[in-house]
Amino acid sequence: MKTPAATHVHTLLASYPDFPQPGILFQDLNPVFANAAAFRSIIDELSDQHFGQFDAVAGIEARGFLLAAAVGYAANVPVLAVRKGGKLPGTVLAEEYDLEYGSARLELEIGQLEPGTRVLVVDDVLATGGTIAATARLIERAGYRLSGVGVVLELTGLEGRSRLGDSAVHAIISI
Ligand code: AMP
Repeated sequence: MKTPAATHVHTLLASYPDFPQPGILFQDLNPVFANAAAFRSIIDELSDQHFGQFDAVAGIEARGFLLAAAVGYAANVPVLAVRKGGKLPGTVLAEEYDLEYGSARLELEIGQLEPGTRVLVVDDVLATGGTIAATARLIERAGYRLSGVGVVLELTGLEGRSRLGDSAVHAIISI
C-alpha cells in the first residue's frame, strides 16, 4: 500500500526529457515541495524514527537542504549541511565523486557533533548513488555513524543502492 507521501509524489512529480542535457530524464520535485500537504507528508515519513534511529540529519546541497531543515525541526535533532566544494570555511573534509552528468566535490566541516552521532542523510533523488556515497564517506570520516539514507525518489535503473553498501535506504517512491 502506498504511503500518503508516495501518493503525493506520484501525483505531483514532473519529468523533463533531455534536461539539463540530452539523454537525462530530469525528475523535478519542486511541484511536490510547492504543495504544503505533500511536503508535510514527505517530512513526516522521512523523520519517522521507525525507519531507523538517528540523532542528527545531514542535507546535501541544494535540494537536500530543504528536506534536512524540516526533518531536523520535526525530529528535534541537529542539522548538518553538506556543501558543494569551496563554500565552507575552517577545516573541512572533502570528497570527489561522479554524477549522472559531470563530476563534483562535496565538503563537510569537522567537529560539529559528538563522535559516534547517528546521522540520517537526506536528499531529493537517489540516481547513481555517487552523491550519497560521497556524503556517507564524509559522515564517517568526520567520526559520525551513518544511520541511514532517506530520499524522496529513487531511480532504480541507475542502481544507486549498490554503491551504498549495506546502508539502510528509505525511498518514498522508486521508479
Ligand atoms: P547521483 O549522485 O547520481 O545519485 O545523483 C543524485 C543527485 O543529482 C541528487 O542530488 C539529484 O538532485 C541530482 N539528480 C541526478 N539525477 C537526476 C535526475 N534524473 N533528475 C533529477 N535530479 C537528479
